[in-house]
Amino acid sequence: MKNRKSRNKLIKQNRILIGISLTLFVLIVFLAVYHFTVQKTKTLEEEIISSEIYPGLNLKTTKQEAELYTLFISQPITEDKKINAKINEWVMKEREIFKNDVERSKKTLKKNGFSAHLNVQTTTEKLSNKIYNLELESYQITAGANGSTKTESIIVDLNKNKILEIHDILLVDKESVNDIKKNVLKEVANKSELNDFIFEELLLESLENYKDWKFILSQDSFVFSFDQYQIASGNVGVVKIEIPMNTMIHYLNPDFANKLDLEIPDKQTELESDGKYIALTFDDGPHAQVTPRVLRILKEYEAKATFYMLGNQVEYYPSLVKQIQEEGHELGNHTKSHKDLTHLGPVQIREEIESASKNIHLASLHYPLSLRPPYGAFNETIKEISKELNLPIIMWSVDSLDWQSRNTKAINQEVMKQVHPGAIVLLHDIHPTTADALPTLLQNLKDEGYEFITVSQLLEWGDLEGIGPHYKVKID
Ligand code: ZN
Repeated sequence: MKNRKSRNKLIKQNRILIGISLTLFVLIVFLAVYHFTVQKTKTLEEEIISSEIYPGLNLKTTKQEAELYTLFISQPITEDKKINAKINEWVMKEREIFKNDVERSKKTLKKNGFSAHLNVQTTTEKLSNKIYNLELESYQITAGANGSTKTESIIVDLNKNKILEIHDILLVDKESVNDIKKNVLKEVANKSELNDFIFEELLLESLENYKDWKFILSQDSFVFSFDQYQIASGNVGVVKIEIPMNTMIHYLNPDFANKLDLEIPDKQTELESDGKYIALTFDDGPHAQVTPRVLRILKEYEAKATFYMLGNQVEYYPSLVKQIQEEGHELGNHTKSHKDLTHLGPVQIREEIESASKNIHLASLHYPLSLRPPYGAFNETIKEISKELNLPIIMWSVDSLDWQSRNTKAINQEVMKQVHPGAIVLLHDIHPTTADALPTLLQNLKDEGYEFITVSQLLEWGDLEGIGPHYKVKID
């Protein structure tokens, strides 16, 4: 019994060995055949990498090494077929273009021993819970030519398994669309390093129809993206124009904006307790010619200022008010029509102040933060009303006398003579001579170590509440 059992065992073992050998042989033959027939053209590896940081979102990678090319694609994949199909459609189109190119350049590739390459990458921006901006970027290079880059941006709401359309994201009424276009053009104009390379006609053409816009959103920026060659010469590559989120927030579809965890950059800079800060103030504008000049110069010197504007002027030049706000300056109320408030009754005083605030808000979506009564004239009634309206009265400690001298040298001398840390400097953005004086004045002040902040920053820094008549802080 024992013997038979062990003989049987031996036979069984031999069978197993033969079986293994046969299987191995078949496998080797199969692999050899596979190697010589299939592998020369294709080894496609696909892998799905699940992500921990982006719930609902995974990454699919595709690798291929062929005789004439290599490709590496990494594309997002969700639980929704429709979304996946849309992403895949774009990726497949890129692959198709690439393969056609490779086919066309076959001879050159073989001759030069060059391997063409396609790379698709995904950048994910989480905008909110399960709302993502997926930016796909494809780079392909075939025979010797320059590579080319293309991008696609898709915003998905995985709570609803929906690809958001442009009208879900932006306000697309005529006025908003025009405003957005203007903002893009303005940003392009500000980018001096791009100006020489951009073809304005192509840019205008690309912006013409809002349905063609491509943009990438993050929690703090809104970036318009143009493919390589789309609006500029090829050496520039993909052109990205960033519009600050605090500008774009006004044009976001409110339903969409409400869902986002937007981080609007805080303009409040960290102030040193012993810093040499002053607040420049410009009264009586906005003025069609002078205000834009003043803004340009302030930007050049990276200076922030406060503009005490007249409601009547604001009504005529709302876009300037908006520009003032967007460029990080502060909005101030200088009443509606520059009347001496001390001659008016409470009802009229209130009307003068409130009407200006309303116009400023209409123009910029922001309310003024303080009040400067015309001629610096105020009494107890005005103080009470301003308190009720939550607008501290702000006077000045340095009068440039620009309204009187209308002389650039005199303006400079006057300010430099009186300036002190914590000063509030009175200027007017309605006299061309004030704009003329500004570059030298800012330079002189900078040379003395002064930094320019807004009135409300200065109040906070000095732990003050406002009023004057001759406003002086931190002189001890
Ligand atoms: Zn005034």
